[in-house]
Amino acid sequence: MNPEKLAGIAGILFDKDGTLLLYDESWGPVNREAARIASAGNPELEPQLLFSGGMDPVSGHTRPDSLLAAGNAAEISAGFVSAGSPVEVTELTRLLDELFVRGAEFSVPVTDLAALFGSLKARGFKLGIASSDNERSIRQTAIRFGILEHVDFIAGYDSGHGMKPEPGMVFGFCHAVGLDPAQVAMVGDNNHDMHMGANAGVGLKIAVLTGTGSRETLSAAADICLDDITGLKSLLPEKPGT
Ligand SMILES: [Mg+2]
Repeated sequence: MNPEKLAGIAGILFDKDGTLLLYDESWGPVNREAARIASAGNPELEPQLLFSGGMDPVSGHTRPDSLLAAGNAAEISAGFVSAGSPVEVTELTRLLDELFVRGAEFSVPVTDLAALFGSLKARGFKLGIASSDNERSIRQTAIRFGILEHVDFIAGYDSGHGMKPEPGMVFGFCHAVGLDPAQVAMVGDNNHDMHMGANAGVGLKIAVLTGTGSRETLSAAADICLDDITGLKSLLPEKPGT
């Protein structure tokens, strides 16, 4: 990788699920509850909905880049309805958004997020979170893990910056912190994170393996694959611009 690319990085935009939070541990139970809600009392429909969304109801594993791995509440609701959910799609979106806010209470972090964000912030990096979850549930997560004070920007699918893989969330981050996309590292566990980064022209696209993706599914679109976000500490320059 070009070392000059790394030296120019001054801001880090993180995806949330599968990146800050372990995906299967945090979202397995929530996805099951989402399918239960969408099946409206028909237990035979639950596993079908999970399967259609990309989660194996038996193993609990979610397929990379599937609807449940990468979609927002509105997209998941539309997918569940076309797979047979009798709930009206707007109502289902509302119910799933509520569920995802409650689900934030049970999420499992990849590492001590307060320590990692605190140290990156102290080194001078601007930090943001861009997620397909709703903004309220992202804020809930940031408060719960003590990182809200370190975060300069938060965008969910409902924050007005568009959706992944459109570039809007990256542009919103750049505008909020006064950086060019070329100075930003996009960090995520799905190809739509890497594609959002590419569409915005970010300086560096970093994939992590704590979500639903693997080296095989991510390496084509990413500049570099890390096992998890703790690898950022040694990958990035000690201070931005040095
Ligand atoms: Mg993710």
